Amino acid sequence: MAPPIGFVSTREDAAARVAYLFSETVLSVQPNLKASPSVGFQHALDRMVHHKVRGIVAKRGTLPSIYSVRHNADPFLTVVEELGKTPFVSVTAPSSTLPAAITHLAKLAKFPVVIHVSMSRSFADFSEIISLRQLGFTLIQSFSLQEAQDLAIASHILATRIGKGVIHFFHQHEGEETPIPFEKVSKLDNVVYRSARVYGVGAENVVDNKGHWDNTAGDVSSESAMDRTIVDETNIDQRNLIHDLTRVDYTTAAGLFQATEAVFDIIRVALGRTYKAFDYHGAGNADTALLIFGSSAKDFITAIRQADSGNIYSKVGVITVRIYRPWSAEKLLATIPQSVKRLGVLEQIHRQTTKWGPVLLDVISSLNSDLSTTTAIPVVVGYQLGYLDNKTIGQALRGISQNIQSKTPIQNLLVGGPVSHDVDLEYHLSQPELETAYSKMLFNVFGARLSILNSLDSNESGIPQTISSNPEYGFGAYLAKEEEKEVFVSKLQKAINANVFTNQETKNLVLRWLLLNRESSSTLSEVGAELISSLESDGSEIACEFLKDKAFFLGTTSWIIGSDAWSYDPGTSGVHNVIASGKNVNVLIIDSQPYTARATTDVSRRKKDIGLYAMNYSNSYVASIAVYSSYTQALQALIEADKFAGPSIVIAYLPYNEETDSALNVLQETKKAVDSGYWPLYRWDPRPDDSGLPNFQLDSQALKKELKDFLERENHLAQLARRVPIFGENIAGSYGSNLRSQQRRKAKDAYSKLIDSLTGPPLTILFASDGGTAENLAKRLHRRAKGRGLGAVVMAMDDFLVEDLVAEENLVIVTSTAGQGEFPQNGRKFWETIKSSTDLNLTSVHYAVFGLGDSHYWPRKQDAVYYNKPSKDLNYRLEILGAKRIVGLGLGNIQDPDGHETAYLVWEIQLWKALGVDGVGVFVDESPPATNEDIKIQSNYLRGTIVEGLNDETTGGISASDFQVAKFHGVYLQDDRDIREHRKASGLEPAYSFMIRVRMPAGISTPAQWLAIDQIADENGNHTFKITTRGTYQLHGVIKKNLKSAVKAINAALLDTIAACGDANRNLVCAGLPYNHSLHKELTSYARDLSEHLLPRMTAYHEIWLTDGNDEKKLVAGNATVDFEPLYGASYLPRKFKIAIAMPPHNDVDVFAHDVGLIAIVDAEGKLAGFNVLAGGGMGVTHNNKKTYPRTGSLLGYVKKEDVVVVCEKIMLIQRDNGDRKARNQARLQYTIDHMGIDVFRQKTEEILGFKFEEAHAFRFESNIDHFGWVKDERGLNHFTMFVENGRIQDTPDVRIKAGLREIALAMKSGGEFRLTGNQHVILSNIAEKDMPAVTRLIAEYKLDNLRHSGLRLSSSACVGFPTCGVAIAESERYLPIFISKLESYLEELGLRHDSVILRMTGCPNGCVRPWLAEVAMVGKAYGAYNLMLGGGYDGQRLNKLYRSSVNEEQALELLKPLFKRWALERREGEHFGDFLIRAGVIKPTLEGKKFHDDVAEEDDE
Ligand code: SF4
Repeated sequence: MAPPIGFVSTREDAAARVAYLFSETVLSVQPNLKASPSVGFQHALDRMVHHKVRGIVAKRGTLPSIYSVRHNADPFLTVVEELGKTPFVSVTAPSSTLPAAITHLAKLAKFPVVIHVSMSRSFADFSEIISLRQLGFTLIQSFSLQEAQDLAIASHILATRIGKGVIHFFHQHEGEETPIPFEKVSKLDNVVYRSARVYGVGAENVVDNKGHWDNTAGDVSSESAMDRTIVDETNIDQRNLIHDLTRVDYTTAAGLFQATEAVFDIIRVALGRTYKAFDYHGAGNADTALLIFGSSAKDFITAIRQADSGNIYSKVGVITVRIYRPWSAEKLLATIPQSVKRLGVLEQIHRQTTKWGPVLLDVISSLNSDLSTTTAIPVVVGYQLGYLDNKTIGQALRGISQNIQSKTPIQNLLVGGPVSHDVDLEYHLSQPELETAYSKMLFNVFGARLSILNSLDSNESGIPQTISSNPEYGFGAYLAKEEEKEVFVSKLQKAINANVFTNQETKNLVLRWLLLNRESSSTLSEVGAELISSLESDGSEIACEFLKDKAFFLGTTSWIIGSDAWSYDPGTSGVHNVIASGKNVNVLIIDSQPYTARATTDVSRRKKDIGLYAMNYSNSYVASIAVYSSYTQALQALIEADKFAGPSIVIAYLPYNEETDSALNVLQETKKAVDSGYWPLYRWDPRPDDSGLPNFQLDSQALKKELKDFLERENHLAQLARRVPIFGENIAGSYGSNLRSQQRRKAKDAYSKLIDSLTGPPLTILFASDGGTAENLAKRLHRRAKGRGLGAVVMAMDDFLVEDLVAEENLVIVTSTAGQGEFPQNGRKFWETIKSSTDLNLTSVHYAVFGLGDSHYWPRKQDAVYYNKPSKDLNYRLEILGAKRIVGLGLGNIQDPDGHETAYLVWEIQLWKALGVDGVGVFVDESPPATNEDIKIQSNYLRGTIVEGLNDETTGGISASDFQVAKFHGVYLQDDRDIREHRKASGLEPAYSFMIRVRMPAGISTPAQWLAIDQIADENGNHTFKITTRGTYQLHGVIKKNLKSAVKAINAALLDTIAACGDANRNLVCAGLPYNHSLHKELTSYARDLSEHLLPRMTAYHEIWLTDGNDEKKLVAGNATVDFEPLYGASYLPRKFKIAIAMPPHNDVDVFAHDVGLIAIVDAEGKLAGFNVLAGGGMGVTHNNKKTYPRTGSLLGYVKKEDVVVVCEKIMLIQRDNGDRKARNQARLQYTIDHMGIDVFRQKTEEILGFKFEEAHAFRFESNIDHFGWVKDERGLNHFTMFVENGRIQDTPDVRIKAGLREIALAMKSGGEFRLTGNQHVILSNIAEKDMPAVTRLIAEYKLDNLRHSGLRLSSSACVGFPTCGVAIAESERYLPIFISKLESYLEELGLRHDSVILRMTGCPNGCVRPWLAEVAMVGKAYGAYNLMLGGGYDGQRLNKLYRSSVNEEQALELLKPLFKRWALERREGEHFGDFLIRAGVIKPTLEGKKFHDDVAEEDDE
């Protein structure tokens, strides 16, 4: 409960508030990422900042600066640096952070810094305070809330006066305390002022010799205003003060103690409360006293007070210590009653490292000092104070009393329960969940050889984690292990000399091992493994003896793992010692600071670049890695570090804000850091290569300045550049600088041209556009404006400098609407600037805004606000800034009869009128922009200007028209969406790269082809590849300069990419059918025939991609070489065309979703007879455009197998000639058929075929999923269908699927195939028995079996979506696994873990994973929002329907969980989820595509 206004209720609150008032800088050490920032000290600090409370010592007009620093980021280094700027620095920190900061604290003690330390209530380890006793701090302890406030004030006054550090510590109170009022600012002013007089100097001088003390500070906050209305004129009369300090020497302990008492005196007079160095509680005639240095002192006092007179401890008194340092023997002696005969000293120290506790020694030396006037020195007994609560305190007191009163008391008895060494940590040193990514990698790579020397989770030997986690501890452990190993090796040597091994093989292996060990050979572990098995089979006593330490045989790889906290000061953190040792030990330092948060860190706090630090040392292997940028590079670095026979420093990036951050956040942060050069990826081997230089390998594109400087300084740059010119250019220029300068030059030229052409009154047209519609509209307006004689310019909003707005005369802005009413990407920066700008005066600007929106995009009433929001916001904001409207806001609505044009045309006429140019006779070239059809025709059989585009080094992309043409070559221009905005803000073009899709009919490739693709992905792509829903390979992240070599390499592997995309027949998908070889073989041959038959005959492909340096064409076997397209003609098809072949009862290719679906029909002998032919399936939809819908194929009839090729051809030709070539969203065969009518279409087809379709044969599908696991075919060959989540082949710290499949491909020595399924999985096919042991072992080793997945996950699929798909509006592939994880435990509870439910997710409605046929689908509507679709058929024959639009994760889970529960409880035998939802009336069935938008569960509110 919050305390009343003007009150504080916790000790941390009280101390923090005082710290704020008395400081210019407060450093708040954050204990734990998980801890809420609104607890502890931070809460009060936040509140003060929020209310803009003026500090007592802050300079006029400024507020104290508050820095929050994570405990693991070397927080006390900041204090050292801050002290150089102001003397008024204080720290708030949990006690557990102190021991690690001891080297800084030693320096800080010499400055007037105040550190407020909070200790946990019951588990505090007072040794954290005790360990600071010799540093020179004054150490003051508070015991209550009131004391915490008063002594916090005292600490600040004292520190200022003595010019030395003060630590004020207290333990937390359990639960709420009775709130106490704040000491008012006015009163504190007075206290300080009076204290100045007491010290005999002017207040200004006490507080600030620069004179910025201001005790009449104007109020800027409610808190201080409130304070100052109740001015308390406390007078501290100097005569009331006992102490006069004007002549005290603060350099002595006695002087410091005197000063502390004097300040306590001021507090007494000013605030009315008395504090002493020691307090005594209890009877004046007590015979026993207990000096308690721990958190339960108060409980002891209470228990003694409440004790009956007969109780053994009723005559026990308690002494508490308030001023721990300087220690005053005199005051202690004066506190102990004369009657005391026995004195117990209770120290709350978790791990006693000396026989006698430090406080016990203080007490004993006081009693034995000259000051002691006591004739009979009491018996002193030390105790270790453990965990106690109210209920056990009496029992403890009894035990203490009995012991102390016995004749021979036992020393060092533990009182209370033992405390775990780590339980008191307010922060935990165990690795955050995310950081285990690197530990997992280490384990994966090194397995049993791995030794993590400072294992954070181990609790060995009772060493506290604060110690066991640091590098020196790890290094010590390494040295100890080395010694052990030496003993082991010498024992082994002796054994061999004594010829104790009887087995000759063992003898040989031992000798080899000893030799390799001497040479530190990298093959040691292999020989060691052999030796172990030899010793195991030897079985002799001596063999068993050596096997006890068999880990030594494997040659452990030793790693110390730490955080970036070690980077602030490599010297004190111990990293330096490791490097300097030259020993073969590896250090992995994980840096978790997010790239986007780097700007918010204190600029004076700079982590050292440990990589550079180590490189300068020249004896260490150094690597900088980021697992979420390049797993392969990280892996390589770890392996190299292990092999390097000396110290290795690997700095690893893993940015996150909170431990709960998803891997997706980490990935996005990593990309930005690597792309910008903030976190370059590199490997450095100090051993000279052939040229005599250390080996530096830059693995990312960009390089930060410090590293570049280092390379230059070392004179490596020039030589590196000479050796690898492009690489050198990267280093010399820093990534992007060349590109940027060229882009600037281009822009400048264009601008100059523009200026020259300006004639009439100016008109600046800005646009914000994601899809291009607003941009086209703006450009058309621009042409028309120029035609009317206006001096018009047009550009994207973000390309315009907002500062120049004031000088604009006429401004027109056209913007579309993105996501949830957001600005499109290229208008966001502009909007953010003018939205928050308060000093823009636009009174001389005239403006008009036109917006493009969709009134149906957000059907719910509460979301109506998103409709055309950017234009509305902009229109309003410009008015607020003083601009004058030329015409009212124009709102284009896609739902109007002519779409946006309906409103636009009216608006434009008004605009010309208002500008006075409506009557101007105009000639404007209104020819529309080139359409896809124009581009195809003008491309000269798909050449376009691709060759020129590939040679243009000023951009990583290609032109818009080449973009369309390149698709026919299987190549797609994309850019990394994760860093698009970030690059734009840096003035860089998008991070362009290409996607390459392979044509591979029926998805069949050889192991060699798999290996080739794997290699191309590594060498030319982003180290991953995807299995697509058309059962083929797709490579991503291929940059332009690698594009041609990648396509060439694909062709060299006897694959190609022709028409894998584009308006032609795409890759043929065919049923997997692993159990029936002969049928599958036949289906495959039809798939190949069809693919070849319908292949574009273009020669451009060979010219562009397969020419070598001499321009010689390399032909792919079987392809024609003339520019003639017998099937397609020069304009190819209106849209893409897809064919699939299915074999009932498995519909694993979703045969109803394709333009042509072929359902294989077998005869009575099980031989292929022919096909039922479906036509007009299609999945592409545009949100809220009811003219678009998904459609399942219509059954045309049956044809014999020998006719199937010609049937497909004729269907394609009818589509070629009848498809809509104007509206691409109406161009697919599905619409052609619906426009024409299925009967007419069938008739037309039959006419050109010259024969009729026979009546369709009966067939039945059972499912459209893949069936996982092993099957044997009729020849006895084996097939394993393997689950590949969303088809992504990549290595992650959790699963190394890419590495595993590579090994498997190598192990398929007797042949076999990799078949890629239309559900994005892999079938390891045709595996001979003799390869089975190796293959099954590898499947198990790499965890590639399917058993561990839920039915839901096994039946799920997602399209690529972010970050590469250019049209994605929501996450899909990266998010679906996360979403499924959130459902799985619930399904398990319901007993549905193994039930298959088809769940598909796409990033947009284009439908790449056929979402509309899934039982549950989530189709991206905006970032983080999806349309939830339900009710698809399990066999792939029934479409689903919209259930709720635009749901976020929470809503989707809330909607789905009760439905799954109902299904679990109410389903009929074998009833699938989609069918159940329809039977239960949850959703209406969609029986044909045209009815897709009818009867939706959620009606528009409009
Ligand atoms: S469905 Fe949309 S977002 Fe997903 S890959 Fe296809 S086009 Fe991209």
